[in-house]
Amino acid sequence: MEAGLLRARLERHPREQLAHLPTPLQPMPRLTAALGGPPLWVKRDDCTGLATGGNKTRKLEFLMGAARAAGADAVITFGALQSNHARQTAAAAAALGLGCDLILVDSVPYREPAYTVSGNLLLDDLLGARVHRVADESAAAQTLAQLLASARAEDRAPYVIPIGGSSAIGALGYVGCALELAEQIEAISLEVGSIVHATSSTGTQAGLAVGLSAVAPGLGVCGVNVYARDAARQAAELRQRCDETAALLDVEPPADAALVVDSDHLGPGYGVPTPATLEALELVARHEGILLDPVYTGKAMAALIAAVRAGRLPRDRAVVFVHTGGSVGLFAYREAIAKRSPA
Ligand SMILES: *Cc1c(COP(=O)(O)O)cnc(C)c1O
Repeated sequence: MEAGLLRARLERHPREQLAHLPTPLQPMPRLTAALGGPPLWVKRDDCTGLATGGNKTRKLEFLMGAARAAGADAVITFGALQSNHARQTAAAAAALGLGCDLILVDSVPYREPAYTVSGNLLLDDLLGARVHRVADESAAAQTLAQLLASARAEDRAPYVIPIGGSSAIGALGYVGCALELAEQIEAISLEVGSIVHATSSTGTQAGLAVGLSAVAPGLGVCGVNVYARDAARQAAELRQRCDETAALLDVEPPADAALVVDSDHLGPGYGVPTPATLEALELVARHEGILLDPVYTGKAMAALIAAVRAGRLPRDRAVVFVHTGGSVGLFAYREAIAKRSPA
């Protein structure tokens, strides 16, 4: 379909302006030369601008639009202790004058002193969010029930945002990114072989897949799973999220074959950087002056680097890495980064 038509359908949904858009699409010439493979490009969604930016800001434009349209005066959301989503939600709430409760589950096995106080947690507090630290999912559900009950008693109804902002409404933000990226690629006639990004709660990939399959079906996306032990369950979530997001826009959902996920780089699990993650952080920092993060983009870049080294990617077509943000998390992994094995 015409990009303009999809854009018009996207614009029917309530939206708050929070992000600095469009984010740049730029080449990574020194990283490309160092690896000796296809031309590597980066879509700078780490530069969305909201309290250090990241991919949740695009989702929050639509989520906060929906919260406002519902008359909510506060939002509640979830994440790990070092959730980038929680930090961007706290910032969006502050910017819009809404209350913000963050229910943060302390379940990532990685541990060093900075992890429980610095990085995103430091900013959540600075941004004025109320942080509720809980041990597990059932404690999170209990805390949510309590918050909703006390809001009800005051005749208030906060807007509840799922983990990662990954409802279909949140995924609309990445349909917008797909439109933006397709236009940038076309403007410079870039021959793109693949688009790679870190995937966890699947909203980013769903939005990209729905948007690209509608306006640029030649552009394929590969999500690098940095989160789910149960890849089949994550695949089912991605399928459902795509269908719901496509329905909101009245477009054809992407085919199953367009939903590609690479689960070979998760290592010990979510939030635990592998040696390859730490190597990717250093390579990209030293060749491009770009900061990745230890939880998401470092792992996704490690997957891309492995594919280049193995010669699995055609050398005459560019790869676009979608940088989804998260560099604030570097400060929570100080010891891991200081001890990283030399590249
Ligand atoms: C949340 C997040 C992702 C994953 O996005 P999903 O939509 O949850 O799959 C990737 N990178 C960073 C830095 C994130 O914070």
